[in-house]
Amino acid sequence: MYKHIVVLTGAGISAESGIPVFRSETGLWEQERVEDVATYDGYMRDKNKVHEFYNKMRRSIKTKVPNPAHLALTRLQQEYTKKSPGSTVTIVTQNIDDLHEKAKSENVIHMHGELNSIWCEHCDARYKYYEDSSTETKCNLCGSKKLRPDIVWFGEMPYRMNEIEKALYECDLFMSIGTSGVVYPAAGFCQLARSVGATCVEFNLEKSAVGSSFNYGIYGKASQTLPEFVEQLIENGEYKN
Ligand code: NAD
Ligand code: ZN
Repeated sequence: MYKHIVVLTGAGISAESGIPVFRSETGLWEQERVEDVATYDGYMRDKNKVHEFYNKMRRSIKTKVPNPAHLALTRLQQEYTKKSPGSTVTIVTQNIDDLHEKAKSENVIHMHGELNSIWCEHCDARYKYYEDSSTETKCNLCGSKKLRPDIVWFGEMPYRMNEIEKALYECDLFMSIGTSGVVYPAAGFCQLARSVGATCVEFNLEKSAVGSSFNYGIYGKASQTLPEFVEQLIENGEYKN
C-alpha cells in the first residue's frame, strides 16, 4: 500500500461541475486578456475591472456542486487513511473554486489562492470573503480600502510551496488530475515526485503537455476514471488496469 499520496488537481476536475477550464471558448477567461485580469500590472491599470472579473466568477461558483471526481478524493482521504494507519493524502489544487471544500475534503492547499478569500494590501490580512469587492470595499480588520482578490497572478509566487515540496519529497504516489501541464511550478511536480521514486499517474481527457513524465495515464472523464481508481486503491492498495 502507498504510504503518502499527493494529489494535484487543475481546472479539468471542475469542468464537469460546469466551471469552464482555462482555455475553453465559453469561460470568463476567454473574454478577457490574461495580462489584464491575471497579472499585478493589469490590476494596477484597472483595479475595478479586475475586481469585477473575480466578482463574476465568485458569484458563478455559488451554485456549482462537486462531481464524482471531487467526491472520490474525499473518500480517498477518509477511507484510505483509515485502512492504512499512518498514511496521508494531501490535496493540492490550482483551482480557485471551492468544490473540494463543498465535497468535504480536508486541508486542501490552494496554491493559486481562492475566490472566497480576500487579501488586504495594507495590513496583509487574508480572510474568507463571499461578497463582491471593489476599490471602495473596506478591510474588516484595518478599515483601509486596499483589498485585492486573493488570487496568485502570473509572475507571483504560489502559496505554501514549502509544504507542497515537502509532501512531494515524501510521497510514493503522485496523482495529477485535469491539468494541462503548462503552468509552472505545478507542471514540474511530477518530475520532482519521480525523482524520489514515486509512482506518478495522470488523469486527463488526453495526454497533457507533461504526460510523458508520468508512469502512466488514465484517459477519460475524471468523474468516471477517478472513482474507479480510488475504489481499487481502497480495496486492494493498488490499481490494476
Ligand atoms: P487548464 O484549463 O489549462 O487545463 C485543463 C485540463 O483538464 C486540460 O488538460 C483538459 O484536457 C483537462 N480536462 C478537461 N475536462 C476534463 C475532465 N472531465 N476530466 C479530466 N480532465 C479534463 O487548467 P490548469 O492546468 O488547472 O491551469 C489553469 C489555471 O487557471 C490554473 O492555474 C487555475 O488557477 C486557473 N483556473 C481555475 C479554474 C477553477 O478554479 N475551477 C478554472 C479555470 C482556470
Ligand atoms: Zn486590512
